[in-house]
Amino acid sequence: MSSVSVMHGKNVTSIRARGQAAQNLFDAMTGGIQKSQKGVEGGNCNRTACQAPGATFYNASTMKWYCPKCYEKINDANPGLCVER
Ligand SMILES: [Zn+2]
Repeated sequence: MSSVSVMHGKNVTSIRARGQAAQNLFDAMTGGIQKSQKGVEGGNCNRTACQAPGATFYNASTMKWYCPKCYEKINDANPGLCVER
């Protein structure tokens, strides 16, 4: 009963049976919850000091996504580097 394989992504019920640790793994595998939304499209701003939601501006240099505020700052320093997608 205690040895449940967590490698089978489709076997959700047995993964859930493992409790919170398994739930975290499940979330990590499916991208279930908003943990690592930093710098992703439509997620949180990639700037560590910011991380505001609604990252809709793509920075071709870092290949990450930024909020409108940081987009302005980035383009201030490097015009055209960050674009809205
Ligand atoms: Zn930002």
